[in-house]
Amino acid sequence: MRLVLLGAPGSGKGTQATRLKDHLQVPHISTGDLLRAEVAAGSKLGLEAKEIMARGDLVSDAILLGMIEDRLSRGDTGNGFILDGYPRNLAQASALDALLGRIGQPIDCAVQLDVDTELLVERIAGRAKAEGRADDNPESVRKRLSIYNEQTAPVVDFYRQHGMLSVVNGVGTLDDVFTRILEAIAPVREVG
Ligand code: ADP
Repeated sequence: MRLVLLGAPGSGKGTQATRLKDHLQVPHISTGDLLRAEVAAGSKLGLEAKEIMARGDLVSDAILLGMIEDRLSRGDTGNGFILDGYPRNLAQASALDALLGRIGQPIDCAVQLDVDTELLVERIAGRAKAEGRADDNPESVRKRLSIYNEQTAPVVDFYRQHGMLSVVNGVGTLDDVFTRILEAIAPVREVG
């Protein structure tokens, strides 16, 4: 099962992806986590990405594509993968499409977690207190939400046009949302 998980910051993508990974037994590939690991390691890429991430801006498409290519070549994605945080704009969506076409592993399904903006802001504020992420300050959050609306929302349409999109209500308990995601991907799992 090759799955793209789409949703605004605070939509619960990361949490649900972790559960899905255990359930589906495929790796969870979070570009946010990969980038934060580079920042923590103090690598050249990490140093480049640090400020950009703290501001809530997008790291360059070229860097992200390289990271994804590298991650997919590790040999543990034979049964599929869950992409979380990628693609985030149309250029990334087409680059991913081309890359996966080339290696014969196209996306089976894209799931969008749908959550009201007001609730997103509330959730991120709660997370900021609990986790202290550098980019969960109000200015960066505003920037990330507006980038989501301007650049990532078209990616949702991209998958809709390709007939691969399921929209899942992301409001409810973690279990409720998880069950809804499993229901949404069930038809694709049967085919695969
Ligand atoms: P959130 O969904 O809460 O914004 P993520 O962990 O997915 O958090 O991403 C954190 C930051 O990492 C983003 O604001 C951005 O700076 C960078 N990032 C993650 N994925 C991408 C991507 N696909 N393209 C560009 N930048 C990215």
